[in-house]
Order: sequence, then C-alpha cells, then structure tokens
Amino acid sequence: MLETIILCMSASIIFSQVVLAMLVLCPRCKLISPNLVSLPQTAIARREIALTFDDGPHEEITPQILDHLDLHNAKATFFCIGEKVAVYPDLVAEIIRRGHSVENHSYRHHTFFAFGSPNLLENEISKTQKMIEAATHGIAPRFFRAPFGFRSPFLGGVLRRMSLRHVAWTRRGYDTTCRNPDTVFRRLSRNLAAGDILLLHDGNSRRATTGHAVVLDVLPRLLELCKHKKLHSVSLSTIFTDIQTLPTDRQPNQYK
Ligand SMILES: [Zn+2]
Repeated sequence: MLETIILCMSASIIFSQVVLAMLVLCPRCKLISPNLVSLPQTAIARREIALTFDDGPHEEITPQILDHLDLHNAKATFFCIGEKVAVYPDLVAEIIRRGHSVENHSYRHHTFFAFGSPNLLENEISKTQKMIEAATHGIAPRFFRAPFGFRSPFLGGVLRRMSLRHVAWTRRGYDTTCRNPDTVFRRLSRNLAAGDILLLHDGNSRRATTGHAVVLDVLPRLLELCKHKKLHSVSLSTIFTDIQTLPTDRQPNQYK
C-alpha cells in the first residue's frame, strides 16, 4: 500500500514537472504569465503588423535593415541584447533616430535564462534597461522578449514590478538556423495578416549559400508583400502609446 502511494506521488511530481517544462518552453503560451502574441483589435482595424528584430544590434546587418525599412517607410521594433548595446550604443541611438523602438532582450541572452532565479532575471533585465536608456538618452524600453522565448514562472512577477510587458510573436521564419531565404520567406508570409507580430533577427542571422545574411534577402520581399496587401509595419511603442502608463495586469484585454 505504502509503495503504491509513493509511486503515485512520484508519478504526479514527474507529471507536474513535465507540464511546467512544457509551459516554460512554449514561447506563445499565455498560461504562466501575460504574453502578447498578436496586436490588439485597434491595430488590426488599421491594418498594422509588427516587424521585430532580435539579438542585435549588429554592426553590419542592422544598418542595412534600417535602410530597407526607410525605403518602405516601415517602422519596426528591435529587441536588443544588453552586452551588444554596450558595444554599439551609437547604433542603438541611430535605430531610435530613424523612428523605430528599442526594447529589452536580456543582458547576455543566456541559454538557461528561463531557469534563473528571480534575482538573476531582474539583474539581467534591469542592467539592459539602464544600458538602453543610456544609449538612447533616456528612452526606456517598455517591452521584453525572453531569450528563445522561454519564460520562467518567475518572469511575470519580475516584469510586472518593472512595468514591462512580455512580447512573443505570431509567426517566425527561423532565420537563425535556416540557410534558405525562400523557406524563411514562406514561413513568414503564409497567410500574413493584420495583427501579426513577425520574428526576425538582425543579430545571429544565418548566412545563405551566397554569403548574405538570410534576413537581408527576406526583408525586402516581405516589405513588398506588405505593400501589396496594404499592411503597415509599425513599432510596438507606437501601437501601445495610449496605454503607456498603465501596468500590465490592468490591461488583460490587450493580451489575446
Ligand atoms: Zn534572441
């Protein structure tokens, strides 16, 4: 009898750990904490989408992305890594100068970020906030994206205390691993619609067989498609400007 009880308890502990691990490793999950995975109805009505670029800034790729965006009068959101901001503060300032927003993507982009203590999470995020604020002369990020999209159960509380909201994505092209720009473009463009949040990378972008960064091949085609579909890419800070001062937990209707 005792053996059966111990067995059942062990099975239940293992099951709960597996469920928790699945939630942590599911970037678009909304069960463990608020998570923005698409834009609100007001943005959809305006036929807006959000292009987001992670893991930068990158000295060679980010300026070219900015030029492509300018050509199409498109605005985007850059989720920057703190230690790269420390190396390229002028590039971060240039992103802001060109009308885009710069947001927080942790300080080191550590593989095991999701398994860190609340103190470690807070330290990684606050260090990056300060770094970006210094580079942009006082423009503090209002959004955070976890490295790889993996979220600790502690992250929601840390972000709430820091008045940041977590942003995932609607669709991604896997441009850090896929060397074929056609495949990446197909993943991002299939059923592209207003309200979508697209994940691309200016940092860590894979090189195609031609030697060019995949993102630089895909982005112009994506922007042409947006034009054809009458979709406008805007930055997250523009979309959410009206609810800037309200804390995350008072805006449940903004999280689908
Ligand atoms: Zn990343």
